[in-house]
Amino acid sequence: MAVLVLKVDIDTFRGMKEGVPRILEVLDKRSLPASFFVSFGPDRSGLAVLQLLRPRFMMKMFRTDAVSMYGLKTALYGTILPAPVIGAGFPDMVRSLNDLGHEVACHAWDHRVWQDWLFLMGQKSIHSWFEKMIDSYKSITGRKPAGFGAPGWRMDRRALKTAGEYGFDYLSCTRAREPFIFEENDLVEIPSNLPCIEEAGVNGVVKALESRAQSLVPQVLPVHTEVEGGFYCKSFEQILDKAQSSGYIVKRLVDVAFSIDKSSLLKRTLKQGLIPGRAFKCSM
Ligand SMILES: [Zn+2]
Repeated sequence: MAVLVLKVDIDTFRGMKEGVPRILEVLDKRSLPASFFVSFGPDRSGLAVLQLLRPRFMMKMFRTDAVSMYGLKTALYGTILPAPVIGAGFPDMVRSLNDLGHEVACHAWDHRVWQDWLFLMGQKSIHSWFEKMIDSYKSITGRKPAGFGAPGWRMDRRALKTAGEYGFDYLSCTRAREPFIFEENDLVEIPSNLPCIEEAGVNGVVKALESRAQSLVPQVLPVHTEVEGGFYCKSFEQILDKAQSSGYIVKRLVDVAFSIDKSSLLKRTLKQGLIPGRAFKCSM
């Protein structure tokens, strides 16, 4: 029987406020645990408009109908509407995830800036981005985070080096096929290796789950609270029912990280690659 992890990313204010309660309801109905990767800082989704200068992004906007998926308000945050704060603005909600037995991990300070402009950020900005995220995590939960998953699966060597300075127990920053150890910082990487709804559609996700139901490699499904906790909530239920009927055992990412035999893992450097349904290259 294969292991399945639900890696639930909280990327936006709406995803926090409206998406998280709906996801929790769906999980609670099935008594399933999940790993919530929280963006703590400002929701500057509106900055995505700058991405219109990049043709691949425009193609993706049209293909996925991003405005109807994320909502017009979200599409304007950080531009003509002020940027609301995500995780740091909902401390009780973040703590309640923990109290319910889910994992709370670090996803971002400013998600949009990292996802779109990491390559333009200097070492100092990368460092202060991590500082703000981790301070926020600690002040809300009272402990240090075990895991970090990079926004948009964007990482580079400098970011890996910085992540290595914060004592994380594991990373989940890539779309590789199976876990490995980063040569850059000696940390174990447990990748999101299943496609998400935005990339493969609901049927594509279900098919991937079916085909890997006997896999010995832990399967990590990327979930986004504004998507599966919004328009695609029913589809998310369908996906979870499929996973359960296929015999998957659902675990939190931190538990997989602590139980994995690190001596059996390949050690290698970060790679980049395009995966189907994504506008930009992801870390691999
Ligand atoms: Zn994200």
